Amino acid sequence: MENCLFCKIVAGDIPSNKVYEDESVLAFLDIAPQAPVHILIVPKQHIESAQTLTPQSDPLLCHIFETARNLAKEYGIDQTGYRIITNVGQQGGQSVKHLHFHLIGGRTLKWEN
Ligand code: AMP
Repeated sequence: MENCLFCKIVAGDIPSNKVYEDESVLAFLDIAPQAPVHILIVPKQHIESAQTLTPQSDPLLCHIFETARNLAKEYGIDQTGYRIITNVGQQGGQSVKHLHFHLIGGRTLKWEN
């Protein structure tokens, strides 16, 4: 989608620190990490947010969570624990309107809202 930051990253028009890629998802390091491990997992297809998912998105979502589990293991946080977050809309703190999942870990996380 035009003028979508993450579509541009998926297309390679904007560089990213890629940590995983396959036919349907891309994962890259967050530019402003909130913890020692902070990875963004995005579908290559433009989906605005979790609010616009449909039942047809189920296989994609399963694959995104599988990717998160694999990356958690690769980055050594699968045993210590981690958080998967997707922000939705303005009050949810979503700054990029392309569905993405934050995989955050490597320290004890507090609950801040
Ligand atoms: P959210 O606020 O939930 O929409 O998350 C957007 C995330 O994208 C933030 O954590 C930003 O730090 C991150 N971000 C913004 N621009 C880039 C970029 N060019 N490369 C990597 N991460 C980015």
